[in-house]
Amino acid sequence: MSRALVEYERVDKYFGETHVLKEVDLSVANREVVVVVGPSGSGKSTLLRCANRLEEIQGGEIRIDGEPISGPDANVNELRQQVGMVFQSFNLFPHMTAAGNVAVGPHKVKGVPETEARRQARDLLDRVGLDAQADSYPDELSGGQQQRVAIARALAMDPQVMLFDEVTSALDPELVGEVLDVMGDLATEGMTMLVVTHEMGFAREVGDRIVLMSDGRVVEQAPPEAFFESPQTERGKRFLSRLL
Ligand code: ADP
Ligand code: MG
Repeated sequence: MSRALVEYERVDKYFGETHVLKEVDLSVANREVVVVVGPSGSGKSTLLRCANRLEEIQGGEIRIDGEPISGPDANVNELRQQVGMVFQSFNLFPHMTAAGNVAVGPHKVKGVPETEARRQARDLLDRVGLDAQADSYPDELSGGQQQRVAIARALAMDPQVMLFDEVTSALDPELVGEVLDVMGDLATEGMTMLVVTHEMGFAREVGDRIVLMSDGRVVEQAPPEAFFESPQTERGKRFLSRLL
Protein backbone atom coordinates (compact mmCIF):
# COMPACT_ATOMS: atom_id res chain seq x y z
CA MET A 1 0.00 0.00 0.00
CA SER A 2 0.88 3.64 -0.33
CA ARG A 3 2.02 6.25 2.13
CA ALA A 4 1.11 6.15 5.80
CA LEU A 5 -1.65 8.63 6.64
CA VAL A 6 -1.76 7.88 10.36
CA GLU A 7 1.37 6.89 12.26
CA TYR A 8 1.73 6.14 15.95
CA GLU A 9 5.34 5.79 17.02
CA ARG A 10 6.13 4.49 20.52
CA VAL A 11 3.10 6.29 21.89
CA ASP A 12 2.65 6.43 25.66
CA LYS A 13 -0.50 7.72 27.31
CA TYR A 14 -1.14 7.99 31.03
CA PHE A 15 -4.22 8.93 33.00
CA GLY A 16 -2.56 9.97 36.23
CA GLU A 17 -0.57 6.91 37.28
CA THR A 18 -2.42 4.59 34.93
CA HIS A 19 -0.40 3.66 31.88
CA VAL A 20 -3.08 3.30 29.22
CA LEU A 21 -1.14 3.18 25.94
CA LYS A 22 2.25 1.47 26.11
CA GLU A 23 4.76 2.19 23.37
CA VAL A 24 2.14 1.78 20.69
CA ASP A 25 3.41 1.55 17.12
CA LEU A 26 0.73 1.52 14.47
CA SER A 27 0.32 2.93 11.02
CA VAL A 28 -2.64 3.23 8.68
CA ALA A 29 -1.87 3.60 4.99
CA ASN A 30 -3.75 5.85 2.61
CA ARG A 31 -7.07 4.12 1.72
CA GLU A 32 -6.52 1.38 4.28
CA VAL A 33 -9.17 0.20 6.75
CA VAL A 34 -7.67 -0.88 10.07
CA VAL A 35 -10.04 -2.48 12.57
CA VAL A 36 -9.07 -2.36 16.24
CA VAL A 37 -10.43 -5.08 18.49
CA GLY A 38 -9.77 -6.07 22.07
CA PRO A 39 -11.33 -6.33 25.51
CA SER A 40 -12.99 -3.46 27.31
CA GLY A 41 -10.43 -1.21 28.96
CA SER A 42 -7.58 -2.23 26.65
CA GLY A 43 -7.14 1.33 25.34
CA LYS A 44 -9.00 1.30 22.03
CA SER A 45 -10.97 4.51 22.57
CA THR A 46 -7.95 6.27 23.97
CA LEU A 47 -5.93 5.21 20.93
CA LEU A 48 -8.45 6.89 18.64
CA ARG A 49 -8.95 9.97 20.80
CA CYS A 50 -5.21 10.68 20.82
CA ALA A 51 -5.22 10.90 17.01
CA ASN A 52 -7.25 14.09 17.02
CA ARG A 53 -6.00 15.33 20.37
CA LEU A 54 -9.11 14.75 22.37
CA GLU A 55 -6.40 13.27 24.59
CA GLU A 56 -2.76 14.34 24.76
CA ILE A 57 0.04 11.80 24.77
CA GLN A 58 2.98 11.76 27.15
CA GLY A 59 5.53 9.96 24.99
CA GLY A 60 6.25 9.13 21.39
CA GLU A 61 4.70 10.82 18.39
CA ILE A 62 1.56 10.69 16.26
CA ARG A 63 1.72 11.94 12.67
CA ILE A 64 -1.10 12.58 10.23
CA ASP A 65 0.03 12.58 6.62
CA GLY A 66 3.59 12.90 7.83
CA GLU A 67 3.01 15.89 10.13
CA PRO A 68 3.37 15.55 13.91
CA ILE A 69 0.05 16.50 15.52
CA SER A 70 1.63 17.89 18.69
CA GLY A 71 4.41 20.44 18.92
CA PRO A 72 4.97 24.05 17.96
CA ASP A 73 3.60 23.94 14.40
CA ALA A 74 0.54 21.83 15.16
CA ASN A 75 -2.93 23.31 14.81
CA VAL A 76 -5.71 21.45 16.65
CA ASN A 77 -8.52 22.99 14.60
CA GLU A 78 -6.94 21.95 11.33
CA LEU A 79 -6.20 18.52 12.75
CA ARG A 80 -9.86 17.97 13.68
CA GLN A 81 -10.88 18.83 10.11
CA GLN A 82 -8.36 16.34 8.75
CA VAL A 83 -9.34 13.60 11.18
CA GLY A 84 -13.10 13.03 11.39
CA MET A 85 -14.50 11.09 14.31
CA VAL A 86 -17.77 9.32 15.01
CA PHE A 87 -18.65 8.04 18.47
CA GLN A 88 -21.07 5.59 20.01
CA SER A 89 -23.31 8.51 21.03
CA PHE A 90 -24.32 10.58 18.04
CA ASN A 91 -24.57 13.98 19.81
CA LEU A 92 -26.49 15.73 17.07
CA PHE A 93 -27.76 19.25 17.75
CA PRO A 94 -31.41 18.59 18.70
CA HIS A 95 -32.70 21.96 17.48
CA MET A 96 -31.23 21.55 13.97
CA THR A 97 -32.49 19.40 11.11
CA ALA A 98 -30.33 16.64 9.69
CA ALA A 99 -29.18 18.99 6.91
CA GLY A 100 -28.52 21.72 9.47
CA ASN A 101 -26.39 19.38 11.57
CA VAL A 102 -24.30 18.44 8.54
CA ALA A 103 -23.99 22.00 7.20
CA VAL A 104 -23.08 23.77 10.43
CA GLY A 105 -19.41 22.71 10.55
CA PRO A 106 -18.49 23.70 6.98
CA HIS A 107 -20.39 26.98 7.40
CA LYS A 108 -19.07 28.01 10.83
CA VAL A 109 -15.60 26.49 10.74
CA LYS A 110 -14.66 26.62 7.06
CA GLY A 111 -16.67 29.68 6.06
CA VAL A 112 -18.59 27.89 3.33
CA PRO A 113 -21.63 30.09 2.46
CA GLU A 114 -24.76 28.73 4.09
CA THR A 115 -26.66 27.89 0.89
CA GLU A 116 -23.64 26.04 -0.47
CA ALA A 117 -23.09 24.23 2.86
CA ARG A 118 -26.74 23.15 2.83
CA ARG A 119 -26.48 21.92 -0.74
CA GLN A 120 -23.40 19.87 0.14
CA ALA A 121 -25.19 18.58 3.24
CA ARG A 122 -28.01 17.23 1.09
CA ASP A 123 -25.51 15.47 -1.18
CA LEU A 124 -23.86 13.89 1.85
CA LEU A 125 -27.19 12.82 3.33
CA ASP A 126 -28.02 11.30 -0.03
CA ARG A 127 -24.74 9.39 0.16
CA VAL A 128 -25.68 7.86 3.53
CA GLY A 129 -29.19 7.03 2.29
CA LEU A 130 -31.00 9.86 4.06
CA ASP A 131 -32.05 12.17 1.21
CA ALA A 132 -35.66 11.91 2.40
CA GLN A 133 -34.74 12.86 5.98
CA ALA A 134 -32.78 16.07 5.29
CA ASP A 135 -35.44 18.24 6.94
CA SER A 136 -36.13 15.93 9.87
CA TYR A 137 -35.01 16.70 13.41
CA PRO A 138 -32.93 14.16 15.35
CA ASP A 139 -35.83 13.12 17.58
CA GLU A 140 -37.79 12.19 14.45
CA LEU A 141 -35.04 9.80 13.33
CA SER A 142 -34.14 6.27 14.42
CA GLY A 143 -30.79 5.63 16.10
CA GLY A 144 -29.40 4.19 12.88
CA GLN A 145 -30.52 7.25 10.94
CA GLN A 146 -29.05 9.59 13.56
CA GLN A 147 -25.75 7.75 13.42
CA ARG A 148 -25.72 8.08 9.63
CA VAL A 149 -26.31 11.83 10.02
CA ALA A 150 -23.33 11.88 12.41
CA ILE A 151 -21.21 10.15 9.75
CA ALA A 152 -22.37 12.65 7.11
CA ARG A 153 -21.54 15.47 9.52
CA ALA A 154 -17.99 14.19 9.94
CA LEU A 155 -17.61 13.72 6.17
CA ALA A 156 -18.76 17.30 5.59
CA MET A 157 -15.41 18.57 6.86
CA ASP A 158 -13.75 16.62 4.04
CA PRO A 159 -11.43 14.64 6.34
CA GLN A 160 -8.43 12.65 5.17
CA VAL A 161 -9.05 9.99 7.79
CA MET A 162 -12.15 8.78 9.63
CA LEU A 163 -12.11 7.33 13.14
CA PHE A 164 -15.08 5.23 14.27
CA ASP A 165 -15.41 4.26 17.94
CA GLU A 166 -18.00 1.53 18.46
CA VAL A 167 -20.52 3.48 16.42
CA THR A 168 -23.08 0.66 16.37
CA SER A 169 -22.83 -0.38 20.03
CA ALA A 170 -25.76 1.75 21.21
CA LEU A 171 -28.07 0.73 18.37
CA ASP A 172 -30.90 -1.76 18.37
CA PRO A 173 -29.64 -4.87 16.56
CA GLU A 174 -31.89 -4.35 13.54
CA LEU A 175 -30.34 -0.90 12.93
CA VAL A 176 -26.69 -1.99 13.03
CA GLY A 177 -26.57 -3.18 9.43
CA GLU A 178 -27.55 0.12 7.82
CA VAL A 179 -24.72 1.91 9.60
CA LEU A 180 -22.16 -0.77 8.80
CA ASP A 181 -23.28 -0.64 5.15
CA VAL A 182 -22.52 3.09 5.01
CA MET A 183 -19.09 2.43 6.51
CA GLY A 184 -18.49 -0.35 4.01
CA ASP A 185 -19.39 2.00 1.15
CA LEU A 186 -16.97 4.60 2.48
CA ALA A 187 -14.23 2.00 2.59
CA THR A 188 -14.98 0.97 -0.98
CA GLU A 189 -14.74 4.60 -2.05
CA GLY A 190 -11.22 4.66 -0.63
CA MET A 191 -11.64 6.44 2.69
CA THR A 192 -8.81 5.81 5.14
CA MET A 193 -10.41 4.43 8.29
CA LEU A 194 -9.44 3.41 11.80
CA VAL A 195 -12.38 1.52 13.27
CA VAL A 196 -13.02 0.16 16.77
CA THR A 197 -15.83 -2.37 16.61
CA HIS A 198 -17.18 -5.59 18.07
CA GLU A 199 -18.77 -6.45 14.73
CA MET A 200 -16.50 -9.26 13.59
CA GLY A 201 -18.37 -9.77 10.31
CA PHE A 202 -17.57 -6.19 9.39
CA ALA A 203 -13.97 -6.59 10.57
CA ARG A 204 -13.51 -9.62 8.38
CA GLU A 205 -15.21 -8.28 5.28
CA VAL A 206 -14.20 -4.63 5.28
CA GLY A 207 -10.98 -4.57 7.28
CA ASP A 208 -7.66 -4.68 5.48
CA ARG A 209 -5.93 -5.37 8.77
CA ILE A 210 -7.03 -6.34 12.27
CA VAL A 211 -5.20 -4.94 15.27
CA LEU A 212 -5.68 -6.62 18.64
CA MET A 213 -5.12 -4.48 21.70
CA SER A 214 -4.67 -5.83 25.18
CA ASP A 215 -3.74 -3.87 28.27
CA GLY A 216 -2.56 -0.81 26.33
CA ARG A 217 -0.47 -2.66 23.80
CA VAL A 218 -0.90 -3.77 20.24
CA VAL A 219 -0.39 -7.51 20.75
CA GLU A 220 -1.15 -8.81 17.28
CA GLN A 221 -1.92 -7.42 13.86
CA ALA A 222 -2.65 -9.28 10.66
CA PRO A 223 -4.94 -9.31 7.63
CA PRO A 224 -8.41 -10.59 8.60
CA GLU A 225 -7.98 -14.10 7.23
CA ALA A 226 -4.74 -14.70 9.04
CA PHE A 227 -6.03 -13.07 12.21
CA PHE A 228 -9.24 -15.08 12.38
CA GLU A 229 -7.89 -18.36 11.02
CA SER A 230 -4.48 -18.61 12.62
CA PRO A 231 -3.74 -16.11 15.37
CA GLN A 232 -0.07 -16.12 16.28
CA THR A 233 -0.21 -15.07 19.93
CA GLU A 234 -1.80 -16.53 23.05
CA ARG A 235 -3.80 -13.31 23.46
CA GLY A 236 -5.04 -13.62 19.91
CA LYS A 237 -6.10 -17.23 20.45
CA ARG A 238 -7.84 -16.36 23.70
CA PHE A 239 -9.63 -13.40 22.11
CA LEU A 240 -10.94 -15.59 19.31
CA SER A 241 -11.96 -18.43 21.59
CA ARG A 242 -14.18 -16.00 23.52
CA LEU A 243 -15.95 -14.97 20.32
CA LEU A 244 -17.17 -18.48 19.65
P1 ADP B 1 -11.47 0.67 25.62
O1 ADP B 1 -11.97 1.68 24.65
O2 ADP B 1 -10.60 -0.38 24.99
O3 ADP B 1 -12.55 0.05 26.44
P2 ADP B 1 -10.36 2.96 26.98
O4 ADP B 1 -9.41 3.58 26.05
O5 ADP B 1 -11.70 3.59 27.15
O6 ADP B 1 -10.49 1.41 26.64
O7 ADP B 1 -9.73 2.90 28.43
C1 ADP B 1 -8.40 2.40 28.66
C2 ADP B 1 -8.07 2.59 30.12
O8 ADP B 1 -7.99 3.97 30.42
C3 ADP B 1 -9.09 2.02 31.09
O9 ADP B 1 -8.38 1.49 32.18
C4 ADP B 1 -9.90 3.22 31.49
O10 ADP B 1 -10.43 3.05 32.78
C5 ADP B 1 -8.87 4.33 31.46
N1 ADP B 1 -9.44 5.64 31.15
C6 ADP B 1 -10.08 5.96 30.00
N2 ADP B 1 -10.44 7.25 29.99
C7 ADP B 1 -10.03 7.76 31.17
C8 ADP B 1 -10.10 9.07 31.78
N3 ADP B 1 -10.66 10.09 31.14
N4 ADP B 1 -9.56 9.21 33.00
C9 ADP B 1 -8.98 8.18 33.64
N5 ADP B 1 -8.86 6.95 33.13
C10 ADP B 1 -9.38 6.73 31.91
MG1 MG C 1 -13.91 2.23 24.13
